Amino acid sequence: MVPAGLKCLNNERKRMESELRDSELFYRTILDSTPDAMLVSDADGIITLVNNKVEPLLGYKPVELIGQPVEILVPKDVRQKHRALMADYIASRGTNTVIGSRPMRALIKNGSILEVEVSICPVQTERGLFVAASLRDITERKKVENRLRVAAAAFETPHEAIVVTDSYANIIQVNKAFEHITGYSQEEVVGTNTRILKSGRHEDAFYAEMWHSLLTKGTWKGELWDRCKGGKIYPKQLSITAVRDEGGNTIQYVAAFHDISARKRAEEEMHSLAFYDALTGLPNRRLLYERLDLAVSVSARNKKYGALLYLDMDKFKTLNDTQGHEAGDALLVEVATRMKFSVREVDTLARFGGDEFVVLIEEIGAEEADATQHAALISEKIRAVLATTYIINNREFHSSPSIGVCLFQGNSIPGDELLKRADIAMYQAKDSGRNQVRFFDPQLQLSVDSRAALESAMREAITGQQFRLYYQIQVDRDHRPIGAEALIRWESPTHGMVSPLEFIPLAEETALILDIGNWVLDAACQQIATWSNTPLTSDLVIAVNISARQFRQPDFVKLVEAAIAKHQILPSRLKLELTESVALDNLEGVIAKMTALRENLGVTISLDDFGTGYSSLSYLKRLPLDQIKIDQSFVRDITTDPNDAVMVQTIIEMAHNFGLHVIAEGVETEAHMDFLRQRGCMAYQGYLFSKPVPHYDFELLLNHHLTLTNLRQSR
Ligand code: C2E
Ligand code: MG
Ligand code: MG
Repeated sequence: MVPAGLKCLNNERKRMESELRDSELFYRTILDSTPDAMLVSDADGIITLVNNKVEPLLGYKPVELIGQPVEILVPKDVRQKHRALMADYIASRGTNTVIGSRPMRALIKNGSILEVEVSICPVQTERGLFVAASLRDITERKKVENRLRVAAAAFETPHEAIVVTDSYANIIQVNKAFEHITGYSQEEVVGTNTRILKSGRHEDAFYAEMWHSLLTKGTWKGELWDRCKGGKIYPKQLSITAVRDEGGNTIQYVAAFHDISARKRAEEEMHSLAFYDALTGLPNRRLLYERLDLAVSVSARNKKYGALLYLDMDKFKTLNDTQGHEAGDALLVEVATRMKFSVREVDTLARFGGDEFVVLIEEIGAEEADATQHAALISEKIRAVLATTYIINNREFHSSPSIGVCLFQGNSIPGDELLKRADIAMYQAKDSGRNQVRFFDPQLQLSVDSRAALESAMREAITGQQFRLYYQIQVDRDHRPIGAEALIRWESPTHGMVSPLEFIPLAEETALILDIGNWVLDAACQQIATWSNTPLTSDLVIAVNISARQFRQPDFVKLVEAAIAKHQILPSRLKLELTESVALDNLEGVIAKMTALRENLGVTISLDDFGTGYSSLSYLKRLPLDQIKIDQSFVRDITTDPNDAVMVQTIIEMAHNFGLHVIAEGVETEAHMDFLRQRGCMAYQGYLFSKPVPHYDFELLLNHHLTLTNLRQSR
């Protein structure tokens, strides 16, 4: 029998043991539930307790560790330090408090080192001091931290600007280099869109392509022009990378760029050294060949003519020999400058070597004749500008160019052959006395010569009084004379009778048309004055042709006014025939001028050659006109060509609607007259009534008309 006291004691012990087991289980469970490895060591540093995370972390089974000194887990080289540290910790921090966590290195069973974070907590018990330590593997965290550190260092790289944006290109972060390159501070740009950097130099399509690449490939790389805060535009090398989340959605963009102005400058310099002449800054022989090849192939495509001018400065050698190379250089620079002002920007002006220059002119006409005249004009302009006096070293120097011209169309003749031809022509220019322009093709030379001869003859015609005015009668529906058109004739002692169709266009190209136009106006007004004294002619209205260039003169209204005043004529007797080409530019100005002529002066205005030009209703409505003149090309075939018939009928109806007088020119037959009269045409001019004739014949003609009319009436 167990005594009751003992039994009671026994029971008490069992209860306590059971409570202890419960408590141990309780703490063990807690201990095992933490993700960290936990170790408890006693005051001597002997491990007394471990949890179940120790083995996966340190490789030791609990039995292998329990009873071992804790230093087994400390790498040898730091054991000394560790010991001191622990002692310090315990002494300074007291007990039962967790002493902050710190990163340490642990020596694990397989002999390798593990990066851990250790928190220790000294615990004072009745059984003495214990130290509880929890160890957490921080290898991954270390790696991430290292990566971040590297990234942060990389982000602040001094030469590469970096911008981080959201997926809409709104700026989130920039680095110092960005601030330096763009002039914007981080505070200024965060939250704004990268759009603020745009220079405006790229088309929308450029950015569209960039976005397309970013959205599809996640990257874009290339060169572009952006703008700094201060407004300066600079080139940069940019690469953008999309940052995507696990789902593949773009969450950010990282853009890195650097300023490539210096590189661009260097490239340009290299390019300019290779392709440009250092003295004059003009393209050199190499670039000329390139452009020439290109021009030839372009011409093969568009069938337009181009011209090559080969130019050599006369007496250049003399200057070089007598006054030295510097003087020679100064002349060449001056020649280059003068030439630059004589050609269009699209033309290539090259220094071919020494004192030889070449001008490549493209697209100067679709027809050979046109191109020839055009090339002749440009060459002459260059010749004239280079033949005026030079001031070299404060001294006058006279030089002039010899210019050889060679036309090209298509690519049948290669560039170097073209150059050879222009060179040959240049030597011909030199042979024929220098300061000349010569074409390679003798046929072309001939046409240029004859045109030049015509031009100089025309200049003499004004002073030599070789121009005459002829008059062509204009009649109404009943054949009654109502006026005449004054038409110029040139009786040239050298060229014979020259048609205005031949010399007026040439005169229009030069300022000669202004002198001729003034002469015509004066002569016509004088004739009106004379005729105003005779009843037969006093009511006639005389139409004078005014060329567009003449009309464009700023003081044109004044010139007409002066002519009227000089001859004291009734302004209503004078009619100005303008063509549609006057209305081509500055319509407002043209309207103002026409209004001044009609309303202030009282002259009338007719629109000549109507139907051949642009004949736009919109401006016809706006131009202050009195009359339109149906062009003879429509009249010629009205009885045979239904299109022309309709055209003429429409023009007449339109004139009626606009309240304009309408006259037909080129009326040659009764059939023409009948057709026009039936459609409501009001006046007529043409060979049916008379050719243009001198004033005395015109007076005879009127007398004849009068006799006829009188006869008709007396019958
Ligand atoms: P335009 O002003 O249209 O003159 C009408 C032209 O047609 C005149 O040619 C005239 O002789 C011609 N003509 C007249 N009736 C008939 C006909 O029934 N049948 C044919 N086939 N032709 C006819 P012209 O005199 O040779 O003048 C030609 C052009 O030269 C004029 O065309 C005009 O644009 C211009 N022109 C003539 N004189 C002057 C002038 O003094 N100054 C200006 N700027 N240009 C003028
Ligand atoms: Mg006319
Ligand atoms: Mg006409």
